[in-house]
Amino acid sequence: MIDNRVCPTCGKKIKYLENENARSNNKYCSRECYELTRSPILQEAKRQGKTIRQLIVDLMNEYKKPTIAGEIIGTSHLQIMYWIKKLKIKAVWQ
Ligand SMILES: [Zn+2]
Repeated sequence: MIDNRVCPTCGKKIKYLENENARSNNKYCSRECYELTRSPILQEAKRQGKTIRQLIVDLMNEYKKPTIAGEIIGTSHLQIMYWIKKLKIKAVWQ
């Protein structure tokens, strides 16, 4: 009955909970996803009703630089760059 739970962060199915002995409070597919729930980026995306991708793209289009985009949502430019890389967001030079 818990075999179709999904990770609240990334939406992936959580498979190992099929094992009833798994920690039942483990709602996330990975430690990374768990830690993301405390990430300012995820919280800001939720607040604005956007996905992380939309949020980063919008921030970068508006502010151009990861340092400024990070400051706006209260995180570091490293977090912004991490997500740009992870989501394979590309800059298009005009
Ligand atoms: Zn996940």
